[in-house]
Parts: sequence; structure tokens; C-alpha cells
Amino acid sequence: MRSKAKTVIIGGGIIGLSIAYNLAKMGEEDIVVLEKSYLGSGSTFRCGSGIRQQFGDDANIQMMKRSVEIWKNMENELGYNVEFEQGGYLFLLYDEEELKTFERNVKLQNKYGVPSRIITPEEAKEIVPLLNTDGVIAAAFNHTDGKANPFKAVFAYANAAKKLGVDIYEYTEAKDIKVEDGKIKKVITDKGEIETGRVINAANAWAPLINKMAGVPVDIPIHPYKHQGIKTEPFKIGEINPMIVSFKHDGVYMTQEANQGGIIGGYALKYGPTYDITPTYEFLRGVSYRFSQIIPALKYLNVIRIWAGYYAETPDDNAAIGRINEVDEFYIAAGFSGHGFMLAPAVSEAIAELIVDGKTSKPLWFYDPYRFERGELREQAVQMG
Ligand SMILES: Cc1cc2nc3c(=O)[nH]c(=O)nc-3n(C[C@H](O)[C@H](O)[C@H](O)COP(=O)(O)OP(=O)(O)OC[C@H]3O[C@@H](n4cnc5c(N)ncnc54)[C@H](O)[C@@H]3O)c2cc1C
Repeated sequence: MRSKAKTVIIGGGIIGLSIAYNLAKMGEEDIVVLEKSYLGSGSTFRCGSGIRQQFGDDANIQMMKRSVEIWKNMENELGYNVEFEQGGYLFLLYDEEELKTFERNVKLQNKYGVPSRIITPEEAKEIVPLLNTDGVIAAAFNHTDGKANPFKAVFAYANAAKKLGVDIYEYTEAKDIKVEDGKIKKVITDKGEIETGRVINAANAWAPLINKMAGVPVDIPIHPYKHQGIKTEPFKIGEINPMIVSFKHDGVYMTQEANQGGIIGGYALKYGPTYDITPTYEFLRGVSYRFSQIIPALKYLNVIRIWAGYYAETPDDNAAIGRINEVDEFYIAAGFSGHGFMLAPAVSEAIAELIVDGKTSKPLWFYDPYRFERGELREQAVQMG
């Protein structure tokens, strides 16, 4: 392992790896990524693969619009097919209040050029013929939303970063960070020490531990909650292209894998804060029931896999991203709740711009890590993930 680096990134999930890639792409050298287990082993390999621009606030819509541009071109840029597919996101709406909120959100999304729209239940059924539209009064649909393969996205960013000279150390845990007079001196790992002047905390559910190591004085509340997912045996490919979401059914979401045809998804049942990620029977029963309420044909499918992972949650479910003023050259990009996979391309580009150019035109102010101390939460009318 090298003993010196200009930048040490802690966390080998999609966020840490994409930051490493973007920094190297902008000409930064001497970058190291530390991952205490294997790449993607945190939340990223456990995610539901969804990528949407249908948010209810300006910042997340703009960030996701940029992310989708990058997702679309990722195969070209990183030289690896990440199975990005634009099958859309279809939100099923069951009452007038929900409809009003989504109408408002669609207007905001359209303002930024996201082509979402409100459609009738009949139109929703044209998109997914197997859909049960009982009680559905409308739906919100955006055909440019979609999904990608988290396993392939991690390897795409990792390989592209390595080609640009980034050193990635798996099974290497950051144990401490030495800071003197507000300046970072070194990162101590279980495999040795790395002298460095810059640390990026991309440790997601473990981010508070990294903040503590560096003596970050600001309170950035990020807590790990157990969320789960399932995958079914293959179904006729192409039956469920969009990610279907229903808040009436406790935030159930489901989509079909582009290549293998399994249906994957979950719902908003959560446990915690906890670092326990043992899957539960309560979830298995609950999600199976909700899947078959939305698509009755699914009740005949076998579940072949169930897993759990963390939503690293903040009080407003938006991440903490930015520079920490009290520790020179310490940055954080963590606490992504249920949408860090989709946001990674734009967030990592923004962090790299912030570091290399000293500024970014992307709305990182929204994710200001100091907002919690100021009591400025960014809550949304529709909160998914
Ligand atoms: C069931 C489920 C479904 C989800 N669905 C979606 C979805 O559809 N769309 C979406 O966008 N998001 C989804 N998410 C959320 C998404 O998975 C996360 O937001 C995203 O993966 C965060 O990426 P990350 O790189 O910040 O974190 P992680 O992937 O958790 O990476 C952080 C890494 O840091 C490492 N680390 C921690 N401490 C140390 C240390 N001291 N030294 C070295 N390494 C360390 C960890 O081992 C870990 O690998 C879902 C999550 C779950 C659990």
C-alpha cells in the first residue's frame, strides 16, 4: 500500500468510486480509495437499481437531470455496459390529494425539461398491461427515468478510475485520521498509514464514525436503517419495464430486470437505527402481498432472493454533501437514504468540481451538511426512499 496520497477517499461504494473517477478525470493525481470490505458491499450492491428525476424540489430534479445525462452516456464514457434502461417511473395515484401533489411536482419537473406527465389509469395500463388499476385515479409517468445494474456500475467506475491511476484498496479499513491545527496529516488504516492532506468521507452509513475520527465538530445526523429487497424468478422479459410505485401500498416499488427478467423491489418497511442487516419474514410476506396487489399475476412467481441493506438516513432524507469548514480539505458526501445510486454521477461530478475548481454550478447548497444544526430541513411533500 502506498504511504502518501494527495486524496484519500473512504468508502468504495458508488459514491466514493465515482468521486475518485471524476477527480482523476479532472486531472487530479495521487488518489486512493479505501474500502473496508469489497467494493459495493455497503448499500450499493443492495439497492433497487431505480433512477428517477421525479422529485419534488428544484435541486434534486436538476441533479437527477444531470445524472440521467451521464447514465445515458455511461457505457461510452466508462467503456462498460451498466445496463441503463429508460423504462420510466410510474407512480400510481389513488386520491385527489396525492394527485394534486404530483401535478405540482410534474409542473416543477417540466420547468427543468423533465418530460413527466399525469396520465389516466387506462394509459397506465397501456404501459403495463398486467397492472391492477382498481382504485387508481391517475398516474405520474416519466419515460426518461429508468434503472441500471448496480454491480456493473460499481465495476465500471472502479475500472475507469484505476485506468486513470487511482489506487483502490479493498479490505482496508480507515481506523483513524490525524488532524493537527485543523489540517489533515494522515489516515491510519489496518494495513498501514497514509500521509495525506485531504479526506473525502464517502462511508454512507458509517460516515459519522469517519467524522468522529477527524474531529468534525458539526453535528451531521446520519443513521443506518435496515431496508430490504427481493428478487423473483424470471418473468417474461418486458412485462414490467417501468419502476412502479404506490404510496397507498406503503411505498411499494417494483421493476423487472432488463436482462434476466426477475422482478425486484421492496417497500417502506424499515428497522432501526441498526447495523443489523438480517432479512425478515415480515418483509418477505409484506412485500409479496403488496406486489400481488399491484400486479396480480406475480402471486404465482417464486421469490429467489431476499436481502437487506442500509438507508443511511438524515432527518430530511437528503444527503450531507460539501466541505467541512473546521477541518481543512475534509469533504463529506454521505447519508443518501434511498437515492444515492441514482444521484452518484451528478454528485461525484459536483464534488470533483468543488475540489478542483473551488466551486460548482450544481445546487450543492441544498445538501449543505450544516443545515441540520441550523434546523433547516428540506422536507418534501412526497418522500420516497
Ligand atoms: C433495499 C435498498 C434499496 C435501494 N434502492 C435504491 C434505488 O432504487 N435507487 C437509488 O438510487 N438508491 C437506492 N438505495 C440506496 C443506495 O443503495 C445508496 O444510497 C447508495 O448505494 C449509497 O452509496 P454510497 O457509496 O454512499 O454507500 P455504500 O455503498 O454503503 O458505500 C460506503 C462504503 O464505505 C465503506 N466503509 C465504511 N467505513 C469504512 C472505513 N472505516 N474504512 C473503509 N471503508 C469504509 C463500506 O464498507 C461501504 O462499502 C437502496 C438501498 C437499499 C438498502
